[in-house]
Amino acid sequence: MEQSTILGVTFDALTLPQAVARCLELIQHGGYVVTPNPEILMAARDTPELKRAIGGAALTVADGAGVVLASKLLSKPLPAKIPGIELAECVMAELAKSGGRVFLFGAKDGVAELAAAKLAEKHKGLIICGTHSGYGYNDTDIIADIYTNKPDFVLVCLGSPKQELFMEKLKPDKFLAMGLGGSLDVFSGTVKRAPVFWRRLNLEWFWRIIKLKRFSRFLTIFKFLITIIFHRKDIQ
Ligand code: UDP
Repeated sequence: MEQSTILGVTFDALTLPQAVARCLELIQHGGYVVTPNPEILMAARDTPELKRAIGGAALTVADGAGVVLASKLLSKPLPAKIPGIELAECVMAELAKSGGRVFLFGAKDGVAELAAAKLAEKHKGLIICGTHSGYGYNDTDIIADIYTNKPDFVLVCLGSPKQELFMEKLKPDKFLAMGLGGSLDVFSGTVKRAPVFWRRLNLEWFWRIIKLKRFSRFLTIFKFLITIIFHRKDIQ
């Protein structure tokens, strides 16, 4: 498999359909998927535990235009950005065909249950085998709960670095886990994705910063691009 290394994190150079196929294979063997964006890459530089958890993933895809741009600047172009939420949606559509089992973990109280109802309605045949909110849990208990429910696919929506560290501990065995940030908020209808217009322009990140008022992210993205541009030779 072609790969591209950015700030010490090795991405798999796949298109969305190829990533879906790889995820379906991983359900048989077990493994987790990480979806780093520029913020996660910058955090991983200063946090060895996060870098190790990302390194343990069976599949690493570029969630965002910034990572794809960086891969081009480093002359190891990734074929496409793969938003984690779209990858998860495609995997669930495939699983629905054979009555696959999905566990939803993360977000505020009630959000995972709301997302479960919406996903089951959208993907007929999909079995939501468990849900748990992302607050006030104990790692050991939730890991036991996940294994007891025998999922094919676990959506881990705790934000970074919690979700990567949790998946490393979970050690998915004959199922797939994926770190998906605020995706349950979107699946539940609590938060909307950027309109298609912004997504087509590769500006979903910009829309999210403005909408969620996370202005400090501008600085992180700026630092990320400066790091890539000025240290191209020694950062791969
Ligand atoms: N979250 C959680 N437990 C925590 C911290 C965060 O379940 O201890 C959830 C939070 O409610 C939200 C998601 O994790 O649903 C993080 O979303 P965010 O938009 O920050 O992540 P992004 O999508 O930007 O990676």
